[in-house]
Amino acid sequence: MSGDRRKDSAAEGSSSRSITMTTAPADLHHHQQQPSAAPLSRYESQKKRDWNTFGQYLKNQTPPVALSQCNCNHVLDFLRYLDQFGKTKVHLHGCVFFGQPDPPAPCTCPLRQAWGSLDALIGRLRAAYEEHGGSPETNPFGNGAIRVYLREVKECQAKARGIPYKKKKKKRNNQLIKPTTTTDQDSKVLKQSS
Ligand SMILES: [Zn+2]
Repeated sequence: MSGDRRKDSAAEGSSSRSITMTTAPADLHHHQQQPSAAPLSRYESQKKRDWNTFGQYLKNQTPPVALSQCNCNHVLDFLRYLDQFGKTKVHLHGCVFFGQPDPPAPCTCPLRQAWGSLDALIGRLRAAYEEHGGSPETNPFGNGAIRVYLREVKECQAKARGIPYKKKKKKRNNQLIKPTTTTDQDSKVLKQSS
């Protein structure tokens, strides 16, 4: 009578290691059968999922945006749109915890997509775009405006969260982000750069 244990409530390590969206794709019921589909690597399957998510996003615009018309502004809008699904606390300037990596109490500041997640996402989408026939010259994901945006997000988040992103020019490594909370994204970044 006393034992009210629920083993399954906290499933370890959620399987979604990426940006998740609440909108379920409509084609889930179709139950496509894929004959002899080789299992994709984690990167490849993630890339595929991201690509589908982005395609769905374009379709949901009013009016829908064709991939051929997609430019860097659509990509920037997409990144901002994803923030609502973010899980990274980014303190506002007025917050007493602004610049504190490990705040002692909760606050009402918004959750955002971590810079590292967005950066990795753009890399995957950039590759996917060209795999789907897009030309490298017009690749909206490779546009300079995206780089500028990502740099701004990075700097802003570094300040707000008290995480120094030091630039080391000698070695090319991205391991400067000390994950205060270990997230999948962070550990992935670490792995990729080693
Ligand atoms: Zn705050």
